[in-house]
Amino acid sequence: MTTTAAPATAPFRFFDVQVVRARRVSTSVVRITFGGERLAELASGGRDQRFKLFLPQPHQDRPVFDDTGDSWYAAWRAQDPAERPVMRSYTIREQRHAPREFDVDFALHGAGPEAASTAGGPASRWAAGARPGDRLTVLAPAVEDNGGVDFRPPAGTDWILLTGDETALPAIAGILSWLSPGTHAKVWIEIAHDDDRQHLPTFADADITWLVRDTTDGTRGTHGTGGTAGPDAARREPVLAAVRAAELPEGTPYAWIAGEAGTVKALRRHLVRDRGIDRRAVKFTGYWRRGATEEDLIAELMAGAAAPSDED
Ligand SMILES: Cc1cc2nc3c(=O)[nH]c(=O)nc-3n(C[C@H](O)[C@H](O)[C@H](O)COP(=O)(O)OP(=O)(O)OC[C@H]3O[C@@H](n4cnc5c(N)ncnc54)[C@H](O)[C@@H]3O)c2cc1C
Repeated sequence: MTTTAAPATAPFRFFDVQVVRARRVSTSVVRITFGGERLAELASGGRDQRFKLFLPQPHQDRPVFDDTGDSWYAAWRAQDPAERPVMRSYTIREQRHAPREFDVDFALHGAGPEAASTAGGPASRWAAGARPGDRLTVLAPAVEDNGGVDFRPPAGTDWILLTGDETALPAIAGILSWLSPGTHAKVWIEIAHDDDRQHLPTFADADITWLVRDTTDGTRGTHGTGGTAGPDAARREPVLAAVRAAELPEGTPYAWIAGEAGTVKALRRHLVRDRGIDRRAVKFTGYWRRGATEEDLIAELMAGAAAPSDED
């Protein structure tokens, strides 16, 4: 399992950025466009490019944080938790050069008409209320070929399998837009609401199945643009049910799976154990874990303890 602990700084760099605009693209997703003076030095590798963002505490108007270079993580940890910025992992949805901006799609967990204003975590709440001019710090790549891109199918790959939820949708969008013409891709994406579907431009031959958790009768349901997921999908982990029920193509696959850590682990186990896919060809990342904040996950990793393991 890829960890989400603090990345080494090089080839990452700190950038002070501000919100240029915030747009609700669907019930569960707000797209925030960031600008900043030094963005000419930011170089996204595309695909699932990860980065860290540092949010101000609610009583601050900007993150209180010194760029101490390679020792930044120790310096950040040494700060008073009530004053130090909240650190979270996100994906660069798109970088543009004229003007110099990048977009991040924030899944608003706890979103929807029924959600309480206290729902979600600090990042989700910050994104829901973000306004032009709001300031953040990000630790983002300064070179395109960087360790924050995990999607790297080896030569000899015949087809691609992608799964994820709303949090992985930005990465899946980046991967699909990167794939070569004609690449065969089977894609399952779990979303909270029907309107969370996005148009995902790609040159690949992509078979995309959307799995919608929220249905009008209060049960989970499935809706596919390129296939149906079967009745089992109306359960707790619709992506897992859909992949289990799927007929997979012949040939050598490369799988990239992300989303809730428990679901990711179960999917990986299914692909390796039940489908016989080479474990080295399954890139899997828990983007969040039910009941755990990112601080909890980092604390586990630092303790070398119960982080999601590499076992099948
Ligand atoms: C490499 C990487 C890339 C990521 N890219 C993105 C991205 O582009 N967009 C994005 O939206 N997220 C992304 N995530 C996931 C995001 O970092 C987590 O969802 C994060 O926990 C959100 O922080 P928070 O402060 O809102 O919630 P936290 O304070 O971390 O958690 C508070 C509570 O909310 C729960 N929770 C957290 N996320 C969710 C969720 N999505 N749905 C339901 N409950 C949740 C937790 O289990 C916890 O109980 C990425 C994660 C990783 C590791």
